[in-house]
Amino acid sequence: MVYADAHCHLGSRQYDGDREDVIKRMLEKGVEDVIIICCSRHDLEEGARLRQAHPSFKLAVSIHPQDLEEDFSENRLDELRKAVRYYHPDMIGETGLDYYSHPHTKMQQKHFFRSQLEMASQFHLPVNIHSRKAAADTLEILREYPCRGIIHSYSGSIETARLCIKEGYMISFGASILFPGARRPKEVIAQIPADRLLLETDSPYQSPVIGHRHEPADVIRIYEETARIRGIPAEQLADEIRNNFRRVFA
Ligand SMILES: [Zn+2]
Repeated sequence: MVYADAHCHLGSRQYDGDREDVIKRMLEKGVEDVIIICCSRHDLEEGARLRQAHPSFKLAVSIHPQDLEEDFSENRLDELRKAVRYYHPDMIGETGLDYYSHPHTKMQQKHFFRSQLEMASQFHLPVNIHSRKAAADTLEILREYPCRGIIHSYSGSIETARLCIKEGYMISFGASILFPGARRPKEVIAQIPADRLLLETDSPYQSPVIGHRHEPADVIRIYEETARIRGIPAEQLADEIRNNFRRVFA
C-alpha cells in the first residue's frame, strides 16, 4: 500500500541529525507522497533538496501565522515571492490564522494570509491552511480568493468542514483522532466525503506520544484508526487518499 502524509516539516532542524534515516523508514513503509511544509530559509533549502531527490515529494513554502511577532514588514512578502519564483514550490503554505496561540497579532495575520492567498492565485498554486480558533475569519478570507487546497490538522465541526469543502478544500486530519477521549474529531472524520479526506502527521510536531518525535512513517497509525472509524478496508482508504492527494496538485 502507498500512503500520503499531507503535512510534515521534513526540512525541520529537528531532523538535521538523521533526516536520511527518517526518510528511509517512511519509504520502507510505503509513505511515498508527502507535502513538505517550509516556513524558514533552512527548511526550504532542505525541502527543495529532498524534492529533487524524490519526485513524489511536494514542496510548500510560506510565512507561518505564528511567526509574525517581530517582523511583519512587506519585505518578508517580497522575499517569499522571490522564493516562489526561484524554487517553484508545488503549494503555498502553511498560511492562515492562529488566534489560539497568537491572539495579539490578528491584524498582521490577516494581512499576511490575504497576501499569500493572492500569491497562490497569481502563481496558480494550491494552499495549505492553518486555522486555530479562527474558523469564521478563515472562511471569510478564503471566500475572497479563487484558491483551493487543504485545511490542515482539522479540529472543527462538520458544519465548518462542509463549508470549506464547498470552497474547494480537502480536509486533513492528524494524530488528534488517535486519542481515546477525542470524540468530536472521530465523529467529524466519519462524516467527511471520501473524495475530500486527507491524513497527516504535522511531524515533527503533534506526536501522540509524549517524548517521541513525530515522523512521516507514523501516518500509518492514523490511517489504521481512520479506516476503523469509517468502517472500510485499509486498502480502500489508501486508494481514496492517494487520489485526493493527486487531485490537489492536478
Ligand atoms: Zn505544520
